This record gives sequence, structure tokens and C-alpha cells, in this order.
Amino acid sequence: MLTPIKRLGQNFLQDPNTIRRIVDALDAGPEDAVVEIGPGTGALTGLLSNKYSRFAAIEIDDRAADLLERDLPEARIIRQDILQTDWSSLAGEIGADRLHVIGNLPYYITSQILFSLLDAAPLIEEAVIMMQYEVAERLVAQPRTKSYGILSVALQLACDVRILFPVSRNVFYPKPDVRSAMVHLRFPQEPPHSAGDPAFLRTLIRTAFNQRRKTLRNSLSRILTENMPPLPEDLSGARAEELTPDDFVRLADYLLGRSA
Ligand code: SAM
Repeated sequence: MLTPIKRLGQNFLQDPNTIRRIVDALDAGPEDAVVEIGPGTGALTGLLSNKYSRFAAIEIDDRAADLLERDLPEARIIRQDILQTDWSSLAGEIGADRLHVIGNLPYYITSQILFSLLDAAPLIEEAVIMMQYEVAERLVAQPRTKSYGILSVALQLACDVRILFPVSRNVFYPKPDVRSAMVHLRFPQEPPHSAGDPAFLRTLIRTAFNQRRKTLRNSLSRILTENMPPLPEDLSGARAEELTPDDFVRLADYLLGRSA
């Protein structure tokens, strides 16, 4: 057993039923390529590396990697910061077109990991990931609710998001301060709602939600340029939380003169 390092978000799963349920949530066949984020002491890793021959796990803590290499010699452990991981090189190394991702995430970087998965969307088939319950609620939130925000819009545009089940604090050592949930993301082969300029779309979403209490007329003024048409009247007085993910795509295309 390792002494858990709080700064690395180390809360290790202890309960065999929960562990089994998480591994079973992955919709992968034995030939598929599976990547685990943050294997830690290997709660999920043993089952996963047994089940999938094309398996790799990415771990930043050398102590955990040493332990895993000793106890699970068949598992491929990559000592790396997940935020520095180049998903395309990784898929190439494993020899896979699309990856199945799984992990009990280090919660301190959940959003960054989600955005890194979004950036790699064409290479990802699905992700079965544990996160803080409130973050999971943000991913599935609907417009006009408190939880609806950047993560809801960005995720819902890129993939189908489902909360699979809540996870009790009691199944971890040490017990986290927050509630947890398992989430399933399924990435379609073709992104369902893509804007002409995805970078501008992301800026638009971020800018609108950074000042979510303001009307779009005010919150977006910083990024609206002279070359752009004026905001449509019905949106000008609206707030970010009133727009659906599709509305954001249409608005981005409209402002860049790409609308049909
Ligand atoms: N999978 C194990 C389990 O369920 O018991 C451990 C999960 S623990 C919540 C998160 C794991 O992510 C830890 O092993 C931690 O060392 C690792 N980790 C933290 N930051 C990381 C990073 N930037 N890149 C890769 N792994 C990281």
C-alpha cells in the first residue's frame, strides 16, 4: 500500500463490487485498445490488463508505477502527466484508431482532462470516468439551470454524456471530502454539431459564461469585431445559460458569416 498523496488526488478504490461495476461499464471487446488514466495502486488495472491485451495506463507517481510494474508485469505503465499525453502518438504506439479510456480521475484536473479528451475526440471511442458528483451534474446539465455552463455545452456538443451511477465516499481510502459519480462519454465517429471554426466557438462559449449574469450584448462585446454582423435581436438580451449547445454553434457560424 502507498501513503496517499493528497496533492495528486490519490483516493484509492477499496470495494471489489464497485471496481467490478466500473470495469464492466466499458463497452470494449478483447481486441480493443484500452487506456487507464491514473492507475494508482492498481484497483482497476489488474482486471483491465487481464481482460484487454492492448492496454496501457498513464501514471504520474513513480512510487505507484514501481508497484504496478512489480505486481502486474503484463500491464504497460507509462510514467507521464496525463495533461502532457499526446493521444495521437499514444494511439499510434498501441496501434489503434480509436481508444477506450477509463479512470478514477485525479479530481484536481478533471476539467483539463475532459478538455484534453475533447481535443482528441476523433481518437476516442468512449470514456468511463469517475469524477466529483457536482462536476458530473454540470456535464449533463440543461439550459437555464445553475449547473449549466462551459463544460455542459462543450461536452454535449462533442459526445453523448450519461451519469452511470453515484459512488459512495466509503469505497475509497482515504475517503474524499466530496461525492463521486461514474460518467460515460461516447464519442461519435463524426462530431454531431461542429462549428466552422471550433476555436472561435470555444472562445465564444467561454466568454459568454465567464460573465454569465450579463446579457450576451455585454458579455460578448470584447470579442465582437467590426467585421461581424450585430447580434441577432432575440439573443442580444439573452444570457449564456439560456442558449442551447446548438444555439452556440449557430451563433458562432453567424458571427463569422458562415451560416447557411
Ligand atoms: N485508479 C486508482 C484507484 O481507483 O484506486 C487511483 C485513482 S486516484 C483518484 C488518481 C490517480 O491519478 C492517482 O494514482 C494519481 O497518482 C494519478 N495522477 C494524479 N495526477 C496525475 C497526472 N497529472 N497524470 C497522471 N496521473 C495522475
